Amino acid sequence: GRLPALPMFRAAQTHQRRVAVVDGAGSHTYAQLLADAQRVRAALGRSVGGGASVAMLMPSTYEYVAVQWGIWAAGGAVVPLSPAHPERELEFFIADSAARHVICHPSLSAPLRRVLERMAAPVRLLPSDELVGPGSAADAPGTAVDDGPDSPPVGLDQNALFIYTSGTTGRPKGVVHTHATLAAQLAALHEAWRWSPADRLLHVLPLHHVHGIVVALAGALWAGATAELLPRFDAAQVLARLVDGPQDVSLLMGVPTMYARLLQAIGALPDARRRRARDALARLRLTVSGSAALPAAVFRAWHAATGQTMLERYGMSETGMVLSNDAADPAARVPGAVGRPLPAVDVRLVDDAGADVTARPDVPGVLHVRGPAVFREYYGLPDKTASEFTPDGWFVTGDVAARDAAGVYRIMGRLSTDIVKSGGFKLSALEIERDLLEHPDIADVAVVGLPSDEWGEAVAAAVVLRPGAAPLPLADLKPWCRERMAHYKIPKALVAVDALPRNLMGKLDKKAVKCLF
Ligand code: ATP
Ligand code: MG
Repeated sequence: GRLPALPMFRAAQTHQRRVAVVDGAGSHTYAQLLADAQRVRAALGRSVGGGASVAMLMPSTYEYVAVQWGIWAAGGAVVPLSPAHPERELEFFIADSAARHVICHPSLSAPLRRVLERMAAPVRLLPSDELVGPGSAADAPGTAVDDGPDSPPVGLDQNALFIYTSGTTGRPKGVVHTHATLAAQLAALHEAWRWSPADRLLHVLPLHHVHGIVVALAGALWAGATAELLPRFDAAQVLARLVDGPQDVSLLMGVPTMYARLLQAIGALPDARRRRARDALARLRLTVSGSAALPAAVFRAWHAATGQTMLERYGMSETGMVLSNDAADPAARVPGAVGRPLPAVDVRLVDDAGADVTARPDVPGVLHVRGPAVFREYYGLPDKTASEFTPDGWFVTGDVAARDAAGVYRIMGRLSTDIVKSGGFKLSALEIERDLLEHPDIADVAVVGLPSDEWGEAVAAAVVLRPGAAPLPLADLKPWCRERMAHYKIPKALVAVDALPRNLMGKLDKKAVKCLF
């Protein structure tokens, strides 16, 4: 069989014998993956070409990857759904993406059947085990990767992947990437993070957000490296794998809450085992954090517990990764900073008056991004797409950032929810959160602005106290703050809660936080 000459397939062809994906069932080479992608393509036939949306609902296994590549080979656009989505969200994503096919693992089909029965448009459910089974292509002959007569070529400009935004600020938007925008993202990360075929990524992220499906999974496969998939993130399981398993993992990627949980788990180990964990983790080439701001306290604790200097990066569904710390120079990584623009990514900062302030050190502005990795559109939302681009073609991220004299960026948060306008100052909720996390009794914190006649907006903090900590009245917190923070940043309201409203990616829902006061 033949596969279209997409860049990802071409790369895979040069690494045929290497292991592409490892899951609970075993190891799978690139040759196998290409052959299984070809089988899935053949089974899908011509029904899904031309960038048509094909949704998939599968656990994180090798078959997931084979189906994803099969959809690409057939000329379809992948719409990844998550087993964690409740029924009404599955319904929203399928309807919103106009998918006419859903490929589903039999173990997950019950809720999906109920959803499809309710939907107006006919949607075909394809059981994944009829497209690709365990070990199906173990004896695979070579699969040709070229645009032959028996397979319609798939254009680089065709839709390839829908990534729904995390819905942190409203309804999730279907971000459409083409094969070309994905290739640009992957090439930039490949260069900046020095991916090599010798790398092995321990993959613990959900596969329906940019972090898990593009940066981590596709990042590894683009390089001819190995992606070892765990079914879900579980701190104890991740540690057991890294400490007791073969010492061959070189990369770990996660969101800050995952690293905080790993640190808790490491902290609870007996001394000898904790030292073993440290030795095992110290062997990794890179540990990467993103999707939300990494607290300085976690950065430092991670270094103390593992010897690793965390690499923090910044990006979003629409742009892929934009800013990253240096992969080759751990000493240059500063907590709270996200580094410099990735290769081929243009970045600028624009203030309220529309002036470009990029070259003015430490002057905050809204981050604009331009380059070949930027998405095509929000699916079905042409007005929203148009309103997020400037007339000269820059994508307006909505995040506020500042660049220091050395060219290193800091993220100050979302303009809509993280910039508190208080007493004539524009404060970054993220920076105040970072400061408050230094308090020994505060385990987690969310800062918002509440309407105030006196201040315009008043800084308010919702905190989760560490287990066993005494209650922390505002009157006791204030003197601690005065020694460390500018007076206008000190919270004027404080509430203690058991847990903060965070989503699957560890992102805070600030609208829900405001309701806590
Ligand atoms: P929605 O657009 O639906 O409100 P979302 O913006 O959270 O959801 P994503 O595209 O998954 O959806 O996330 C991108 C956002 O995550 C960025 O705009 C930024 O606010 C935040 N982010 C990512 N990396 C970092 C980081 N290193 N530091 C701070 N914030 C980050
Ligand atoms: Mg967003």
